[in-house]
Amino acid sequence: MTSSAELFATAQKLMPGGVNSPVRAFGSVGGVPPFMVGAKGPYLHDADGNDYVDLVCSWGPALLGHAHPAIQDAVHAAVDRGLSFGASTPDEGKLAQLVMDRFGGVERMRMVSTGTEATMTAVRLARGYTGRDLIVKFAGCYHGHLDGLLAAAGSGLATLSLPGSAGVTAATAAETLVLPYNDPEAITAAFARHGDKIAAVITESAPCNMGVVTPEAGFNKFLSETTTAHGSLLILDEVLTGFRASDAGYWGLTGRTEGWVPDLYTFGKVIGGGLPAAALGGRAEVMDYLAPLGPVYQAGTLSGNPVAMAAGIAQLSHATDEVYAHIDEKSLALQGALADALTAAGVDYSIQVAGNLFSVAFGTSEHGVHNYAQAQGQEAYRYAPFFHQMLDSGVYLPPSVFEAWFISSAHDDAAMNKIFDALPGAARAAASA
Ligand code: PMP
Repeated sequence: MTSSAELFATAQKLMPGGVNSPVRAFGSVGGVPPFMVGAKGPYLHDADGNDYVDLVCSWGPALLGHAHPAIQDAVHAAVDRGLSFGASTPDEGKLAQLVMDRFGGVERMRMVSTGTEATMTAVRLARGYTGRDLIVKFAGCYHGHLDGLLAAAGSGLATLSLPGSAGVTAATAAETLVLPYNDPEAITAAFARHGDKIAAVITESAPCNMGVVTPEAGFNKFLSETTTAHGSLLILDEVLTGFRASDAGYWGLTGRTEGWVPDLYTFGKVIGGGLPAAALGGRAEVMDYLAPLGPVYQAGTLSGNPVAMAAGIAQLSHATDEVYAHIDEKSLALQGALADALTAAGVDYSIQVAGNLFSVAFGTSEHGVHNYAQAQGQEAYRYAPFFHQMLDSGVYLPPSVFEAWFISSAHDDAAMNKIFDALPGAARAAASA
């Protein structure tokens, strides 16, 4: 078989950077990215014959591990019925109902194909509904690659040290207020100044694109109360955390017990079971501003695609309490092993946690990481040697320190032990960086 090195060399002549999504190019960790040819359970298989325990899980979707039999069967059956009809199908409502059963305040949904489309539509809807222009986002939060939300956007922009994106007009950028995360005073000040012009605050339910950052207790509730008081909307981005941090995402660990719901949610990743499906949902009064009922336009040739719906339904139907209990337990065990290995190697770190999602930040033990400035101030250079030592030991981590680590319900003891065995050497590599 053609090696990853050869495939990457060819790909670089065919696609910018050889990739179709920037972080896959291994820009910040260096080296040749392994090209994957298959995946099963907790393992990825590359073109060079290597197996890896996967801690990326397709950046979230693979909640049940790769090629879960129930999802494979549902997809095969859907494929046999036809790939796309350009008309409504019974499964769209079924998937919508599964979401509504879990997340409070979802009275209407619209299916789209990517998380970016979901947040883009939510932002347009918020503007259309409120008749206001400004959007508040937080530095370090990523909501997809729509023009208006690329400023201080974390994720691949953090990896590549980009402040924002070229090609975004000054006029568009001026309609986004970027505030520091976990800073209620900054919110209060922004609303005091611009309150009647702010259409929405959009926030990751728990930020996972500057590494993981824990929302301080009551922070999301405060956002909900503040937006409501000023007649603007709260868009809770659950694209990454949804159906992962708990059965009802990070909202399930906060809003559900605190007694608040956002006006709009965005979903992606897990909801599509590994195929391109995403959604927005929320209050009927707001959602019904979407066409064909309302004046805010949105559409999609492949929206609600029947194969993707089948994958999503199968995944959510199998995402039981046991699945979350398993992932929570393995996540805690891995956080403990990671902490032990780094401590033993003399590396300064903090482990950043939001439910079962976590990441490591180097040189941050004094304060931890509560915002983007602290995330960017860490000793990020320690990650590349750590990452490569893990990769050489058969563990596939996110190729950037600014990303969360993902575990699936297929991560069994054998897979976890392979990770545990790899950690001490990787911690020593981080120490000597
Ligand atoms: N919102 C969040 C919180 C995300 O993490 C992502 C993707 N990582 C997106 C939106 C965009 O989703 P997509 O890549 O499917 O466009």
